[in-house]
Amino acid sequence: MKTYKHILLAVDFSEDTPFIIQRTRDIALLNKAKISLVHVLDNIPMPDMSYGTIIPLDYEIENKLLEIEKNHLNHIGQELNVPENQRWLIWGSPEDEICTLAEKESVDIIIVGSHGRHGLALLLGSTANGILHHTPCDVLAIRLPK
Ligand code: AMP
Repeated sequence: MKTYKHILLAVDFSEDTPFIIQRTRDIALLNKAKISLVHVLDNIPMPDMSYGTIIPLDYEIENKLLEIEKNHLNHIGQELNVPENQRWLIWGSPEDEICTLAEKESVDIIIVGSHGRHGLALLLGSTANGILHHTPCDVLAIRLPK
């Protein structure tokens, strides 16, 4: 049976996150795998380096938001014993950045949450679905409680 040696857990800090953390811990223990952790900042404006660093309209608020996100990530990292250099906070589109990181870090499996969408939401697509179609590695979509 294939065992996973390197898990990448993608977290969006939603209320479901503790559920995915628990499942990831179990899977890591069973496989004796190491865990990396990623959160993609898709709601904080990205500095546009091609035009020099753009100072956002409300620079202080952006910095505070960034600090909050960093703290969230570090908190989860500590909970799962993820070394600091394996905690990733990246700007961009979640699907793209998670897939790029998985490849760069030679990850065996990406773990994400899945809401089991229906109707229009299903057509719009989920992060889990986007990742599944853009990464060569395995993807585990944890069904989140309703
Ligand atoms: P969604 O499709 O947006 O409902 O998200 C489903 C799952 O994708 C979440 O439970 C996370 O595992 C992952 N995810 C969504 N957004 C992000 C993000 N910005 N950074 C990291 N992971 C994310």
